[in-house]
Amino acid sequence: MLGSPGPPPAAGRGQQTVVAVDVGGTLIKAVVVAGDGRVIRRARIPTAPQDGAAAVVARLSDLAAALVEQASAADGGPPAAFGLAVPGIVDEAAGVARFAANIGWRDAPLAELLGSRLGVPIAVCHDVRAAGMAEARLGVASQARDFLLVQIGTGIAAALMLGGQLYPGARGDSGELGHVTVTSGGSRCGCGGTGCLETVASAAAVARRYAERSGGRVTDAAGLVRLVAAGDPVAEQVWTEAVDALADALAWCQSMLDVELVVVGGGLSRAGPALIDPLASGLAGRLTFQHMPLLAVSALGDEAGCAGAALAARSAAGLPPLTVFLPGTA
Ligand SMILES: [Zn+2]
Repeated sequence: MLGSPGPPPAAGRGQQTVVAVDVGGTLIKAVVVAGDGRVIRRARIPTAPQDGAAAVVARLSDLAAALVEQASAADGGPPAAFGLAVPGIVDEAAGVARFAANIGWRDAPLAELLGSRLGVPIAVCHDVRAAGMAEARLGVASQARDFLLVQIGTGIAAALMLGGQLYPGARGDSGELGHVTVTSGGSRCGCGGTGCLETVASAAAVARRYAERSGGRVTDAAGLVRLVAAGDPVAEQVWTEAVDALADALAWCQSMLDVELVVVGGGLSRAGPALIDPLASGLAGRLTFQHMPLLAVSALGDEAGCAGAALAARSAAGLPPLTVFLPGTA
């Protein structure tokens, strides 16, 4: 669990250290995690997907190389491995990012591109499934065998843990909850569809919809929540529509899956009770005979993807899984 005391630091720290990066639609987040689970370095840079996929890959590669070099210099040896969590459709075995609506890349051979530069083992993983694994091993879902993690940030995607196993789908495409239609004839989505959940309820969507209707500007979902609390009627309407759309989507999921727990992560989860309370009552109001799942906010926050990438990196290096993920002082 986040903040719990961990085991004593392992000897030969460089051999146990991993570098983990999570590529989001807005930020590329990176951590260097010591063998005892402490985050000893942390970096964030803009993803800036408007510059094109090649520019994103170049920035990502430069950041990874800098962190591997720093870790090598500080820890007396190269890190044991590099873990990379990316959104969209991912071929984890081949290390190829097949498609991501928010980044714009197609068939990007990330393991090959980065491997030749970094010189350490690389694990490429799906960002939300990596976050789901992190919630199961290190976060709020450690007691749950059947849970859904819904990451709500620039986009929306889910990880399904069913019977204690992450469910990737027949072709690795599961969890694209952001692209179910919630508004017939609604806004155009980055996936090519219209009226997707992501166009109504993502952190980016609520900010955009508020700006469109009010002419005002909020920088993030937290800003919108502050306006809701202050009684702004446009903010209230935008927020209610987002929560209603999420409750619809969760009701469909619960009818299909009967999970015991729904973990809400990503930027929108920072709204805390302002999101979870109306979402729980909205979901409860939609369920009739189905069991109501527990709803919880991610304990790993927006570093769940990084924590999952660190787990994947340790696995690639043949190291045992982390049992704690400690924010440390980095
Ligand atoms: Zn879509």
